[in-house]
Amino acid sequence: MRLYEKNASELSEMLRAKQCSASELCNDVLDRINEVENEIGAFVTVDAEGAKENAARVDKAIADGEKLHPLAGIPIGIKDNISTKGMRTTCSSRMLENYVPPFDAFVADKVKSAGMTILGKMNMDEFAMGSSTETSYMHLTRNPHNTECVPGGSSGGSAAAVAAGEAVVTLGSDTGGSIRQPAALCGVVGMKPTYGSVSRYGLVAFASSLDQIGPMGRSVKDVAMVQSLICGHDPMDATSKNMEYPDYAAGLNENVQGLRIGIPKEYFGNGIDDSVKSAVMEAVKQYESNGAVIKEISLPSTEYAINTYYIIASAEASSNLARFDGVKYGYRAKDYTNLIDMYEKTRSEGFGDEVKRRIMLGTFVLSSGYFDAYYKKAKIVQKNISQEFSNAFEQCDIIATPTVPASAFKIGENIGDPIKMYYNDVCTVTVNIAGLPAISLPCGKDGKGMPMGLQLIGDKFTEQKLLNAAYAYEKMCGGFDTLAKITGEAK
Ligand code: GLN
Repeated sequence: MRLYEKNASELSEMLRAKQCSASELCNDVLDRINEVENEIGAFVTVDAEGAKENAARVDKAIADGEKLHPLAGIPIGIKDNISTKGMRTTCSSRMLENYVPPFDAFVADKVKSAGMTILGKMNMDEFAMGSSTETSYMHLTRNPHNTECVPGGSSGGSAAAVAAGEAVVTLGSDTGGSIRQPAALCGVVGMKPTYGSVSRYGLVAFASSLDQIGPMGRSVKDVAMVQSLICGHDPMDATSKNMEYPDYAAGLNENVQGLRIGIPKEYFGNGIDDSVKSAVMEAVKQYESNGAVIKEISLPSTEYAINTYYIIASAEASSNLARFDGVKYGYRAKDYTNLIDMYEKTRSEGFGDEVKRRIMLGTFVLSSGYFDAYYKKAKIVQKNISQEFSNAFEQCDIIATPTVPASAFKIGENIGDPIKMYYNDVCTVTVNIAGLPAISLPCGKDGKGMPMGLQLIGDKFTEQKLLNAAYAYEKMCGGFDTLAKITGEAK
């Protein structure tokens, strides 16, 4: 077995027991990237040199007997909308193709201080808008389970790399499902933490009231380890919650005796594949036979979730993306006659179609005459959705749903039909609308041999309970088989 195939928790112990060195581990993952990256396309930037230098530093620290963070020397990939000082951060957009941030995001700083080996930056949908990574200006990312299929999105590079063994763990961001949906389609574990538990400082903003950074990995423990590292109060983010954050990995517990699991009937209706419904219900049965109590619940506003999400997210995006004007940083059009012409050409040439669609939609729903009809209504529905979740959490500890209505679709299948593409987020957006934590776990494969996802949703700041429930399912399954055998005709 090669080193790249192992989980972060195992590798952490091996490094400490001197069964391998951080440099050996780093080189093995870099070799793996060389072997499969042409086929997968998970990275925008690979920093082999920086990774090797860090690994050498960790090896020296180990030899000197220094006390290291458990994640020191573990190779990680970072989504390309998270600012990394001195390393290109493109958001997979022409607008930021050559942008090198002069500062580190809060989470990048945490990753560096822990001594993790940063492999590079992961491909994504442009500015995190999309569900397939096809809106990337850079290149396609392919699903390692079938390279003719999308990896999901927008954190498609982060998910594909973990499934293909090109990174041990990665960071993604989730505004409406962008960690959980690609995790489900690539058969790995991905968590969207509670809004406010991970600082957004240095995350290029899409929809600030919904965005949250979170971890992806091949086991629940790995995700818990990374979450423990990146969470915490940050005065640089006004929405960051100041509280004691536990060590989630140390607190993992697989006991589900008496755990109340709610099953919302609205998440099992038309439009959800039968194979996905039965896989999720199979998982629920396993919980029940291990002592959990299953309750049917109702979240009636779910039917408005997609509309609500696309109004709020686009409204915020239209405002956040106003900063890309060709003046301060990023792309600037070559030929223009005056300032307005420069703005227009810069934004027309610098942004792709999906980003333009969101800016136009957002500007529309915020404009006078339409504000009350769309934006204001969406904010009212948001309150209803949050209230329904709060009521549900009075009767249950965890809510179980599918992550995505079906397994990965073919590249090109949905890109021409935005509404069909948006529907992929039908099970994930409510979590962001209500600011809750949720995790996607692999729950078997469908008839096409493609992974499906089980989503567990928790109440605000109950990550430990959520991770424990996830850990229990992983144990019931005898561990997750998260490493893909890379197959597919397309090269
Ligand atoms: N797919 C959703 C969108 O396109 C979610 C994106 C995200 O979570 N960043 O908006």
